[in-house]
Amino acid sequence: MHNPFKNAMAQLDKVAKINKSFSAEFIKRMRQPDRDIRISIPIKMDDGSLRVFEGYRVEYNNALGPYKGGIRYHLDTEINEVKALAFWMALKCAVAGIPMGGGKGGVTVDPKKLSKGELEKLSRGWVQKLSDILGPYKDVPAPDVNTTPEIMAWMADEYKKITKNKNINETRATFTGKPIDKGGSEGRGPATGLGGFYAFDALRKELKLPEECKVVVQGFGNVGGNVARIFTENKHKVIAVSDSKSAIFNKNGLDLEGVENYKKKTGSFKNFPGAKNITNAELLELPCDLLIPAAFENVITEKNAGKIKAKAILELANGPTTPEADEILFKKDIPVVPDILANSGGVVVSYFEWDQNLKNKHWSEEKVFEKLNKIMKGASKKMLEKTKKTKTSLRMGAFILALERIKEKIL
Ligand code: NAD
Repeated sequence: MHNPFKNAMAQLDKVAKINKSFSAEFIKRMRQPDRDIRISIPIKMDDGSLRVFEGYRVEYNNALGPYKGGIRYHLDTEINEVKALAFWMALKCAVAGIPMGGGKGGVTVDPKKLSKGELEKLSRGWVQKLSDILGPYKDVPAPDVNTTPEIMAWMADEYKKITKNKNINETRATFTGKPIDKGGSEGRGPATGLGGFYAFDALRKELKLPEECKVVVQGFGNVGGNVARIFTENKHKVIAVSDSKSAIFNKNGLDLEGVENYKKKTGSFKNFPGAKNITNAELLELPCDLLIPAAFENVITEKNAGKIKAKAILELANGPTTPEADEILFKKDIPVVPDILANSGGVVVSYFEWDQNLKNKHWSEEKVFEKLNKIMKGASKKMLEKTKKTKTSLRMGAFILALERIKEKIL
């Protein structure tokens, strides 16, 4: 079984080799999370039986601010995945330059097999076991794969009940990604996809990509669905999309609205008129200007990296490229805009939500997007400077930028 934390530590070792100003003590410290917690969540199921789910919260590093990071509900979620995601989150906040630390949470579960009532009990159960360590100035969870604004609202409500904190601004600020009427921020839904687009836009010329790119998107959830729409709206052509069950391709571009409606109706992309059915593996190897993995980790590996024909990769999933694949792509001169920069739009707008909640403010969508664009542009520019200075990959440039900022605060 793959171990994303091993990949994350291989990336850390590589950066330590490249940048000698990181002491062995600092690297040693960055190899361990501050805390990793496993919990059991017993749930009375609708049929009267009892099931016990395994849940997690990893608090990796809070040098720059409260731990911040999403909660993932997935059957493959386990402690090493959560540790890796928490580590990347610490770096992500540092690259974006926001005053937040890195955390992540999860539950090993297939949420699609639960009824709504069971899902609510599970979500409230996660908070019951962890409420002591959560709080607006301690640890602020958010959504990730399979967790929704509604789930965040249940969690915030449970936290309020347990802590009996009458300060609504503080209880709201403990969870981000909430529905708008429960204190959510405008623009949090598309934030990750949009942030990825802003980063792409800032780097496009450096990446030597045309003004109208042919784009391939893997995954069609919150991130993949939004990014495909945003690229289409900005005159690029999305030529292939996929989800866990299907993948389709049309070299002249897909009618995205038609694709979305078709998926809503049939549950997948299979047999979409005017497109060819392909496999998810084939999708990754299509000739295109930009490949956007937006599903899961470890999809670009040493097995397929040599076959990638994209001119550049924008990592919107966390950890989609293994360290071995990174080496192959670097040698092939295929630039990879790394996850810790490319998908940081989500945590940036989560930070905006936290800030608005604490100040009891509500910003317009226009203001949120303008501030997000400024942060993504600035971070992209700084990453590029570090990359050029060290003549390494964009990932190493981003790692150096992030680790220098964390190091400044802890050593
Ligand atoms: P999601 O649950 O909304 O969507 C996941 C998508 O991936 C679905 O369309 C699913 O069908 C598809 N998928 C699952 N298995 C697949 C497979 N084997 N091949 C192809 N597609 C597959 O999740 P999301 O929030 O869109 O997150 C996607 C990725 O982006 C994750 O790596 C997540 O950690 C990362 N991310 C999300 C956010 C956010 O704000 N939601 C922020 C930063 C990073």
